[in-house]
Amino acid sequence: MPLDTNQTRRTAPTSLALTAFVVTLGACRGADSTPADTLDAGSDATGDVGPSTGSDAGPFAEPDAGPDAGPPPPRLNWTRDVEHVDLNLDFEAMHGEATITLGPSPDDGAAFEAGDLDVTEVVDADTGASLAYRVKDATLAIGVPAADTPHRVTVSYGFRSQTEVGGWLGGDGVTFLWPTYCGYLFPCRSAPSEGATFSLRVEGVPADAVAIYPPEIPTEAPTYMPAVAIGAFERIDLGETSAGTRLAVWHGPGEADDARAGTARLVPAFDFLERTYGPYAYGAEAGTVSAPWAEDATGGMEHHPFWHVGRDDLGNEEVNIHEAAHGWFGNGVRIACWEDFVLSEGTTTYIAGRAAESAGLDLWPEYACFLSFDCDPANDTNTIALLDTCDVIELETHPLWSTVPYMKGAFFYREVAEVLGVAMLDEVIAAFYATHVGRAAHMEDMLTALRAAAGDRAAEIDALADAWLRSLECPRDYAELCDAG
Ligand SMILES: [Zn+2]
Repeated sequence: MPLDTNQTRRTAPTSLALTAFVVTLGACRGADSTPADTLDAGSDATGDVGPSTGSDAGPFAEPDAGPDAGPPPPRLNWTRDVEHVDLNLDFEAMHGEATITLGPSPDDGAAFEAGDLDVTEVVDADTGASLAYRVKDATLAIGVPAADTPHRVTVSYGFRSQTEVGGWLGGDGVTFLWPTYCGYLFPCRSAPSEGATFSLRVEGVPADAVAIYPPEIPTEAPTYMPAVAIGAFERIDLGETSAGTRLAVWHGPGEADDARAGTARLVPAFDFLERTYGPYAYGAEAGTVSAPWAEDATGGMEHHPFWHVGRDDLGNEEVNIHEAAHGWFGNGVRIACWEDFVLSEGTTTYIAGRAAESAGLDLWPEYACFLSFDCDPANDTNTIALLDTCDVIELETHPLWSTVPYMKGAFFYREVAEVLGVAMLDEVIAAFYATHVGRAAHMEDMLTALRAAAGDRAAEIDALADAWLRSLECPRDYAELCDAG
């Protein structure tokens, strides 16, 4: 999450890096919410149109043209799966090449969000043949044939440094794609259920800077996960977990003490996450990158394996451990709908609390203070943590974008642990992760798993879910736990 818990939020719960952004795009185009094979059949043809593909291959030719009709015209096919994205980004030329592996599809075409990308060419990555494309309303439609095997296309484009929306924040030297801004860096689909594997190459890095990014993201991840940070970073090795994952922290000038303090217990906490919930899915090396966000350099953003922590929170162990724990929930298991935000943030807050506790750090009094703040009607920050719709809300402007899913979610799990026992709850979370890693899931799927584990006490799980997740009023505010901290 970009908005991680920090002390300032206790009194100013709206602070965060993202709050400065203005949404200029409409809601994301999720595969679930967009009809298959939609023909963008506007007749005005005001968009940028790629190379002509033959006499009757205009952008809106008949979809069932025969095999002799030449390459197909651009078509907004949102249901064609995106399996892998290979990104080559040049931050000097501000030029990108995205080679996208499309899944088999009975229908031709493919569609992507394209922010304000300047698409200059689309080719078949295997033959080099030009493909027709069209950009309109920040949407890229490609003419690519139906296929019963994966098919690779390469999109060449220019991208811009952003200040009002996400994308490449050139002034800060970091990318920031959450929640719906991936299309400002590469052609993508920002629905949270969308997942792909990624590979990255970065060029055009100034001589006095280094680029921190993962060459490979080997397990399917949400499309906001690829991240690049370019700056005068220095690396501190933190050591290895018992599973052999190497952890590190990358910090800017003068930040070494904060970097060491904030990651002091990261190795044992990460080790606990691996041993308790399952193998880390994003490679053999991971760690924190200090993010110099200009607007509000607090909180963090779960770009795995190299997650970003606002430099003002670099010394905050809670933020570092929380972002690490997103490797299991939010990223490893991604959310099916924005309304399932609590599956990402509530679960992560709980397992981060377990990991910190195992490493000798009790985060629960701090959690309780956030909860107590949200539960106080005078603060007007409380909201319902779990909604029944799917991708109807715009998260950035909805009340759900708050600390409520984090804290009501965490205390929901804490009270579930009183029913199941802490160890059995860990086992349920681990089994859920094993089943869903690399895939999207609903919070309701987690509730089903908890009910099954509870057996004849399943009604107590439902009662806790109703009280903590589906009600506005807090069943308990844990003020005494806050005060005890
Ligand atoms: Zn988070």
